[in-house]
Amino acid sequence: MANQEDAFKKVVSHAKEYGFIFPSSEIYDGLGAVYDYGQLGTELKNNIKQYWWKSMVQYHENIVGIDSAIFMHPKIWKASGHVDAFNDPLIDNKDSKKRYRADVLIEDHIAKIEDKIKKECEKAAKRFGDAFDREQFITTNARVLEHQKQIDEIRNKYAELMNANDLDGLKQLILDLGIVCPISGTRNWTDVRQFNLMFATKMGSVIDDSDTLYLRPETAQGIFVNFLNVQKSGRMKIPFGIAQIGKAFRNEIVARQFIFRMREFEQMEMQFFVRPGTELEWFKQWKEERLRWHLALGIPAEKYRYHDHEKLAHYANAATDIEFEFPFGFKELEGIHSRTDFDLSRHSEFSGKKLQYFDSELNESYTPYVIETSIGVDRTFLAIFSHALKDETLEDGSTRTVLSLPACLAPYKAAILPLVKKDGLPEKAREIMDMLKFDFMLQYDEKDAIGRRYRRQDAIGTPFCITVDNDTLQDNCVTVRDRDTMQQERISVENLRAYLHEHIQPITVK
Ligand code: ATP
Repeated sequence: MANQEDAFKKVVSHAKEYGFIFPSSEIYDGLGAVYDYGQLGTELKNNIKQYWWKSMVQYHENIVGIDSAIFMHPKIWKASGHVDAFNDPLIDNKDSKKRYRADVLIEDHIAKIEDKIKKECEKAAKRFGDAFDREQFITTNARVLEHQKQIDEIRNKYAELMNANDLDGLKQLILDLGIVCPISGTRNWTDVRQFNLMFATKMGSVIDDSDTLYLRPETAQGIFVNFLNVQKSGRMKIPFGIAQIGKAFRNEIVARQFIFRMREFEQMEMQFFVRPGTELEWFKQWKEERLRWHLALGIPAEKYRYHDHEKLAHYANAATDIEFEFPFGFKELEGIHSRTDFDLSRHSEFSGKKLQYFDSELNESYTPYVIETSIGVDRTFLAIFSHALKDETLEDGSTRTVLSLPACLAPYKAAILPLVKKDGLPEKAREIMDMLKFDFMLQYDEKDAIGRRYRRQDAIGTPFCITVDNDTLQDNCVTVRDRDTMQQERISVENLRAYLHEHIQPITVK
């Protein structure tokens, strides 16, 4: 645990020190759970968004992208169910005066039991060595089975209580599990209450006349209310999807864990409209395709897992999360939901406009069913960034901090480094920079010894360092150093562009 905490602290401090992420309004002591992306963070974030956009929109003929406004008609949130049901159950500890999400307390309790299973596996793996079969172990070991049974029981009970909106039962479950406040260590809990997560604001210059608006808590509704506009203007045929990247706002009760849970964040959502009755097939396909998208980043498969929902949201008939092993444990990174025809039907009802599709093959009109894939940009950033950050001990015993980002996501693709600040090397380096800068984000750096400059680039994830030395002026070749292997090779300046293109390919999902 201490190690995990240290690793997480290192992520937060590294992100700040190198200009990836700053606390918002820092000179005024910050604003809870709001963060600003710095000069490098913005590049990485834009590259993540581009990877998603290309995989969803460019590589799928039948998916198009939109950019709807954050402000929307207030009735939309009535129709979507958010005004009535977008609540989190909150509970306070009377001694520490700290507020918690009741569901998160229970999830954290489950995570502790999962940790025990993990430890049993680690012990057994050590004991059995190469002969260790994890699958067999977790399905037969008595202690593991007992832990798993406990987890299943808690999950079922929790789902049952939430489905019945039984807040007293939820409090009782917290008491029965012996969950204590991590600050005060006591079980002195208040009752559980529901808290709506939407931020309200007013529109119009005369306050009295103005309507209450909500800052959108998800981007999806902007897609639903444009369903007909896009379908008709784009002559879209079912099955088809509409994708969107944009800000969402939630007044999160407990906002810890850095950019994992923010009050202002960004989502990448895609709603896929299908024939009624085919939705579960499409759900399965998207569930698999979205995991492939994550794995294509080159992060090991063990860092991801599915978590199928027992408690389904009011609109869903199937739902799963893709969870990632963050420095603080496995947590939701992306949600894939089969939303039925709930949203389109509700918007038809509330707006009085028929939101249907005429299927010429079936010669009938229907309200399409929807599969949604919804992923947070910031959580993806945290997953990729925290996995990439490593302290390495080199063969000579020295250490380095390296951010092994996938090359195509790295803020800078290459650094251009004149070995010394004289003899015409800076001029040659600038010439190379001018030749490449229309194709690649580059950084020019001539300060300090070359070794220190390499370390700086390692720490910000630059995949290649291009060093211009005295020989360059004679042979028109440069030294290209690879961030991960630290190997160096001589490349002729004419071949540099092709070399970088070859080594920094866009990621594609198979
Ligand atoms: P959680 O259970 O962690 O609160 P959620 O189930 O409410 O998440 P969804 O409504 O399914 O989340 O939102 C889709 C995605 O948006 C999430 O998988 C996550 O990546 C991202 N997301 C949701 N809330 C936040 C937040 N407060 N800060 C950052 N990202 C978020």
